[in-house]
Amino acid sequence: MADIQALEQRLEGISVQDENQDANAHGAAHKSKGSLSHAISLSNLGSQAAQNRMKLPLQKIPTNAQSKTLQATSQTTSTTTTITKITLPSQAAQHQQRHSAESRDSEAEPITLLLPADTKLLKPKNFHLGMFEIGKPLGKGKFGRVYLARDRSTGFVCALKVLHKSELQQNKVEKQVRREIEIQSNLAHPNVLRLYGHFHDTKRIFLILEFAGKGELYKHLRKAQKFPEPLAAQYIAQMASALKYLHKKHVMHRDIKPENILLGLHGELKISDFGWSVHAPNNRRNTMCGTLDYLPPEMFKQGPENWYTEAIDLWSLGVLTYEFLVGEAPFEDTMAMTQRRIVRGDMTVPAFVSADAKDLITKLLVLDPAKRLSLEEVESHPWILKHCVKGERGTHQKSLGDKR
Ligand code: ATP
Ligand code: MG
Repeated sequence: MADIQALEQRLEGISVQDENQDANAHGAAHKSKGSLSHAISLSNLGSQAAQNRMKLPLQKIPTNAQSKTLQATSQTTSTTTTITKITLPSQAAQHQQRHSAESRDSEAEPITLLLPADTKLLKPKNFHLGMFEIGKPLGKGKFGRVYLARDRSTGFVCALKVLHKSELQQNKVEKQVRREIEIQSNLAHPNVLRLYGHFHDTKRIFLILEFAGKGELYKHLRKAQKFPEPLAAQYIAQMASALKYLHKKHVMHRDIKPENILLGLHGELKISDFGWSVHAPNNRRNTMCGTLDYLPPEMFKQGPENWYTEAIDLWSLGVLTYEFLVGEAPFEDTMAMTQRRIVRGDMTVPAFVSADAKDLITKLLVLDPAKRLSLEEVESHPWILKHCVKGERGTHQKSLGDKR
C-alpha cells in the first residue's frame, strides 16, 4: 500500500488538467516553454491508426472476489489524478476466463475478451490522462517510465508509457518515437505488443500500450539461465508468426533481442520496442542500428554493399534461438571480437543442444542473407513441428507458457 504522496512522486507530477485542453489553445505557452509539441505534432498521426484502434479487442478485468489487488488505494479531488484500486484477476481466474472465452469463440485472441460495445469508449480523440487510474510503475526505459493503468469507464487494463518531450528533443529521437508510434499503432497480432493510442500534453507524450503481465522475457531467461527446448521452440514459433505478420506489412523490426520481448499473462510472447523498426516499401535500407550481439553480418559492410532486407530479422531469430537454448548470444565477446566473429559467422553450438535445434540455428545464421531459411521454413522446421502443437503455433502452448 502506498499513500497518495508516494504515488504522485512516482508519477513525477502527472496531472490531468492540460491534457483535457485543446492543444492549439495553449500553443503560445508551448513556444515560450520551448516545448516540442510543434516538432512532434502527434495529433495528425495516421488516420489509419485511428481506424485500427476502433477495432480494439478489449480486456475486461473483473473486480470480483478472485481479483488480486495490484496497487495501493488512495483518492484525491476530481481536479487531480485520482488513484484508486487497480485490480487484476488472479492468474487462475484469468485462465478460466480465457478458456470460457475460447469455448464461446474460437476466433478470440488468447487473453482477450471481445467487448465490442466498449470500443466506443476508447475513441482516439477522447484519450486524456484523466480517463486512467494510474497504478504501479512497471519499468523505466531510456526516455520515460511505464505505469500500469486502467481505463476508469471500461476497466480496461493497459500500460501507460510516459515520454518527456524535452528529453526526446535533447537526444534527437523525436523522429524515432514518431516512427515507433506510426508503425506500432498499425499493427495487430497476438505476438506483437499493441499500441492502442497516444495523446500528449505540453511536456509529455503518453503511449497507451497493451499490458504485458509477465514482463520482460529477458528477466525470465536470466532467471532460468536457459529455456528447455519445447519452450524455446514455442517462443521461436511465436516470433516467426509475428515476424511473418510484420514482414507482410513491410515492417522490419531490426532490433530483435530478449530485452525487446515482453510476456503476456499466460506467457505468450509480445514483440515490443519498434524504435528501430522501419517501414520499408522498397525493402531496402542502409542505416546502422541495433545492438551488436544481434546484428547480422551485412550491417557491418561499408558503402553501397551495406544493403539489407527483412532477412536481418531472420539472422536475429537465429541469435535468439541460440541464446534461448544456451543462455548467451552466439557471438558474445568483446565489441571488436563480436564484430569480427559475426562477419565470419564464427560460432559453435554446444553439444547439449539437440541436432534439430542446431540445424535450425545454423540455417538461420547464414552469412548470405538470401540463403537464410524463410519464416515459412522456420515454421515447418522439424524442431518447431516436434515441440509445437498445430493450431497453437504462433501464439503459445498453454501448458508450458503457464507454468512459469
Ligand atoms: P527503450 O524502449 O527506451 O529502449 P526500455 O525497453 O528499457 O527502453 P520501455 O520500453 O520504456 O524501456 O520500458 C521500460 C520497462 O517497463 C520495460 O523494460 C518493461 O519492464 C516495462 N514495460 C514496458 N512496457 C510494458 C508493458 N506494455 N507491459 C508491461 N511492462 C512493460
Ligand atoms: Mg522498450
